[in-house]
Amino acid sequence: MSDKKERTEISSLGEFGLINKLKQHFTLEQKSSIKGIDDDAAIIQPHEGEQMVVSTDMLMENVHFDLAFHPLKHLGYKAVTCNISDIAAMNAIPTQITVALALSSRFSVEAIEELYQGIHKACQDYKVDLIGGDTTSSRSGLAICITAIGQAPAQRIVCRNTAQKGDVICVSGDLGGAYVGLQILNREKQVYQAAPLAQPKLDGYSYILERYLKPEARMDLVHELAALDIVPTSMIDISDGLSSELLHICKQSKLGAVIFEENIPLAAQTIETATNDLNMSVLTCALNGGDDYELLFTIKQSDYEKLKNHPDIHFIGYMREAESGVSLATRAGQNITINAQGWQHF
Ligand code: ADP
Ligand code: MG
Repeated sequence: MSDKKERTEISSLGEFGLINKLKQHFTLEQKSSIKGIDDDAAIIQPHEGEQMVVSTDMLMENVHFDLAFHPLKHLGYKAVTCNISDIAAMNAIPTQITVALALSSRFSVEAIEELYQGIHKACQDYKVDLIGGDTTSSRSGLAICITAIGQAPAQRIVCRNTAQKGDVICVSGDLGGAYVGLQILNREKQVYQAAPLAQPKLDGYSYILERYLKPEARMDLVHELAALDIVPTSMIDISDGLSSELLHICKQSKLGAVIFEENIPLAAQTIETATNDLNMSVLTCALNGGDDYELLFTIKQSDYEKLKNHPDIHFIGYMREAESGVSLATRAGQNITINAQGWQHF
């Protein structure tokens, strides 16, 4: 939480005072945003001929984030990112968000303003308008629930259930970094709890820490695919790990798949940290770790030529008939069946 000297109690402003303070930095930029914060509901005018997509994600303190090491500004940014990533996974353009908060009196007005600084930065980066929300009290911690709205022409919207046999499986960026970053943050938190004067050892981990604390939704790729005139045949964002997301595409498309270990993109810092600091298989981190917010998608073989030299898209396998199952071909030449090991929330 904020260590600033100033501490204004939320009760001194009241719910409406707080909302007024938080909203003052936000303006409406999207043509489709007709009315934002102030009324009982916001008004959106969809672009003609387009479909709208809507997605909600809820983040709970001590389930999805730990304020011991998650700066509130980054948390606000990440909460928006998770939602924008879902809109990106539909191959749509995000336009608006709403933000609902449950707050305990532990939080000062300054702390919530920090959270909203991150939300504001994300709104600018992703070009979305904050058009409303809700604010309520909580007895147990912070909850942030964001709804994102986006639009696209119907023929560009991409679902999970439309992959075809023979399609090439693509993944953006690199995987497992956020999970490895989180393990380092948890390790340093435990060291600190045991010896509060110990300095956290976070030097040399900046890439993976940023992967966890400040991930980016891949809107850049949604725009690039549009510019290349490619519509993926299916798409999903990687919030729960590659295994779990690939299984979603396979199950919904009623197909199997094979992916190749040697093609799974990994960053050098993820490999080094998993291997040397955590004594973990980096492959397990990539397959089962969460929070990467990269895109997993399939393309027709005929679109491969257009994408094959893209520096940030990796071709990891192909779709096949359901009877052949979903498997990983390892470097050692084994075939391992992929099963659901995504984040188990319960
Ligand atoms: P109601 O009582 O009708 O639910 P509220 O008093 O909760 O209305 O909200 C007033 C206005 O402020 C609405 O436009 C609502 O969308 C907006 N709002 C409330 N809380 C937030 C928040 N945390 N972030 C952004 N907008 C908010
Ligand atoms: Mg309300």
